[in-house]
Amino acid sequence: RAKRNSARNYEFFLEEMEFDNRWRTDIINQLKNDFYEGHLSLWYQPQINLKTGAVCGIEALVRWPDSAGGFIQPPSIFIPLAEYSGLIIDIGDWILEEACRTFDKLKRQQHTLQSVCVNIGIPQFKQFNLIKTIQRLTQEYKLPAGTLVIEVTEQLAMHDPQLVIENLHTLQKLGVHAAIDDFGTGYSSLNTLRHLAIDRLKIDTQFIHEISHSNAEHARPPFAETLISLGQKLGLKLVAEGVETQAQANTLRQIGCHQGQGFFFAKPMPFDELLDWLNDNPSLSF
Ligand code: C2E
Ligand code: MG
Ligand code: MG
Ligand code: MG
Repeated sequence: RAKRNSARNYEFFLEEMEFDNRWRTDIINQLKNDFYEGHLSLWYQPQINLKTGAVCGIEALVRWPDSAGGFIQPPSIFIPLAEYSGLIIDIGDWILEEACRTFDKLKRQQHTLQSVCVNIGIPQFKQFNLIKTIQRLTQEYKLPAGTLVIEVTEQLAMHDPQLVIENLHTLQKLGVHAAIDDFGTGYSSLNTLRHLAIDRLKIDTQFIHEISHSNAEHARPPFAETLISLGQKLGLKLVAEGVETQAQANTLRQIGCHQGQGFFFAKPMPFDELLDWLNDNPSLSF
């Protein structure tokens, strides 16, 4: 009993340290100002078809730049605070619109992407307007059915399974696809996942990094391979996250993973850089 109490106190202590109140309030206020003044930026990371080397899509990743060429906080810090404060609703709408606008701008430059992936958190998903917003944006920017892909985590799926099941079905009818992000890291029940209208799994970075860097004989990734064959049997598209080496890319291709995303191919970059990068790399050979 004593042990359990002290464990709980310790967790509480850690939480206090990490999310010290004043620090948290300061960040939220600064984020609010910067967002409404138009200082957030949406960056994009290409996704590569592992069979052909063609660029097939992008994932939109939000950035909070400072004036010196760096970042004020990474998304892993400010997204949870934006969610906690409710700011994520406005920020999330802006991210969705910016991503759809980017698809349209690229199309006008002869780069028609198969998919544009956007991360969606729990409060955004619970918001009544999300579906209406998505419907309006895909019409306004003329995204063909299947182009917009929303990425949800297993945590989100388990948070309110009934709502998630319903919303994903509605979105699927509107031609919006969905991916489970960081697949394999959450505590989701396969039974819940089974009922979700998803069309792809993003295999989490940690399982990709387990794939051997050097020795080809030991290059079999036991768990990534298991996740990939599970996804294949379910008829899902498989995307590997955090691909950093040639060996990982080769192994993933061999075991039938469809797409790869990671520093080995390209880092996330702002729109102008993405456009240059696409012009230089219509497809990759590796
Ligand atoms: P995520 O959706 O799993 O995004 C992948 C993260 O891995 C990104 O970090 C990306 O920059 C990083 N990454 C890409 N390739 C590699 C690689 O080869 N090696 C390694 N080590 N990392 C790689 P980022 O941009 O810092 O985002 C972190 C998380 O924050 C995202 O994880 C996502 O959950 C959240 N996030 C980012 N942008 C948004 C957004 O626009 N909206 C929402 N709701 N969440 C976002
Ligand atoms: Mg993601
Ligand atoms: Mg991920
Ligand atoms: Mg991840």
